[in-house]
Amino acid sequence: MSSNLPVAVIGAGPVGLAAAAHLMEREETPLIFEAGPEVGANIRSWQHVRMFSPWEFTVDQASVRLLEKHGWEMPPKQDLPTGYDLIENYLIPLAELPEVKKHLRLNAKVVAISRRDIDKMLDAKRENAPFILHVAYTDGREELVEARAVIDASGTWHQPNPAGSGGLFAMGEQRNAEHIAYGIPDILGAARSRYLNQRVMVLGSGHSAINALLELVELQADYPDTQLFWAMRSTNLTQVFGGGEDDALPARGKLGLRIKAAVENGALSIVAPFRVREIQALPDGMEVIGETPDGLMSVQVDELIVSTGARPDLNMLRELRLELDPSLESTRALGPMIDPNIHSCGTVRPHGEAELRHPEKDFYIVGMKSYGRAPTFLLATGYEQVRSVVAALVGDWESARDVQLNLPETGVCSTDSGGEGAACCGTSNTATSQASVVSLASIPVRGERLQLVSIPTAASRDCGCDDTCCGDGVRSASCGCETSCCS
Ligand SMILES: Cc1cc2nc3c(=O)[nH]c(=O)nc-3n(C[C@H](O)[C@H](O)[C@H](O)COP(=O)(O)OP(=O)(O)OC[C@H]3O[C@@H](n4cnc5c(N)ncnc54)[C@H](O)[C@@H]3O)c2cc1C
Repeated sequence: MSSNLPVAVIGAGPVGLAAAAHLMEREETPLIFEAGPEVGANIRSWQHVRMFSPWEFTVDQASVRLLEKHGWEMPPKQDLPTGYDLIENYLIPLAELPEVKKHLRLNAKVVAISRRDIDKMLDAKRENAPFILHVAYTDGREELVEARAVIDASGTWHQPNPAGSGGLFAMGEQRNAEHIAYGIPDILGAARSRYLNQRVMVLGSGHSAINALLELVELQADYPDTQLFWAMRSTNLTQVFGGGEDDALPARGKLGLRIKAAVENGALSIVAPFRVREIQALPDGMEVIGETPDGLMSVQVDELIVSTGARPDLNMLRELRLELDPSLESTRALGPMIDPNIHSCGTVRPHGEAELRHPEKDFYIVGMKSYGRAPTFLLATGYEQVRSVVAALVGDWESARDVQLNLPETGVCSTDSGGEGAACCGTSNTATSQASVVSLASIPVRGERLQLVSIPTAASRDCGCDDTCCGDGVRSASCGCETSCCS
């Protein structure tokens, strides 16, 4: 790189800290800005959750090399860390190393980025102008900091999607915020009293929703009056339950198997397909009203947990020239590789600097944020991203291009239509019939126009193909029984 300015790294999560370690290994100076009071601030909010990746897939090699120089020992490779373990046994020791600590600024939120004296419209001398980061500290100070390159690893977890099915807040959602939590609350710990013996609805069909539900099922074992509803847009339960024993990350596969068992035991009722439209306060709780194929339906609950994913903060990037996938808000070239409309897999072909490049030279979005709204990001992906990006920033193009990534398969992959017994949605015959045992009988319904709906299971349809297989809840004309409909 031509100038002596540092490379700004936004976010001290695992990928931001990995970027810093790679920069230092290349004898570059990182300047890491972290909005929270400590490193791993986003992970802190789900620290009680056990990760499905073992330690060997959750650490970055440059960071490990740095740590080991100071006597750090790698935890047993096959053990599964919780979020807490990842922070306490890896991120904090890394951030506390003197060579990292001196480059780390906590309570420092980057609120905007531009080029020095050059706004988004100006072309002249743009590529050689340093970046300017506007940093707001929690003590009220503000600062304009110059950098020669910017690596944005600011994640998405702090920007959860709202409950409304169209990506907007549902009517009444903000008014009833007191009884709505986002992400994965600590149900068996700090938030226990909030949920015990309550009627709780969890919204969403991904791993976060499943994690929250499994904790609620555990709570229900001690407090049998806890009533659980699992609402989602999808009716493709096979995809929701995941790859089970075929998942190359066994802990991830087990999540699906455990929730499937809970459904089959009647521990919770599934409400699907259900598109949340409105939330109304009642004298004793609230009413979640949603669209179903048979009209509006309402479910009375005390608490709602919205686990419908997260989205990137693009406001701070307003003055930069970005190229984003129009639907995912991921870096554009990544879109087709990770689009959940097409892939249910966590697998993605190796990618690095070339795929992460934006029209704004020397600016990269990495980590969870590089996937935009797509949910399948894995840390191993992020570590390889930053290795490649840093190599490019120091002009080592051979290393930047030599991307290697071997990600574990989920075991359920909608692009994998050729497998034995796989229907167009990656549905095996066994899994389809098990999904059809779900019952909705216990859902209370209010109002004349509101109806109880039953799940349209694969067994009750003319063919074995689910409505959602060609896009979430959107039945496509080509989505009959053809095995090619999702490819
Ligand atoms: C419950 C859960 C379980 C997961 N389990 C696994 C797993 O088993 N295996 C796996 O590989 N992946 C897993 N993931 C996915 C992923 O690896 C994690 O989300 C991981 O934390 C992503 O790392 P990151 O560094 O990209 O972002 P984050 O960890 O989200 O870090 C971003 C950091 O940026 C900071 N920040 C945000 N905005 C700003 C700003 N404007 N200025 C300064 N700082 C800012 C945040 O405070 C945060 O500390 C899991 C995710 C979740 C939610």
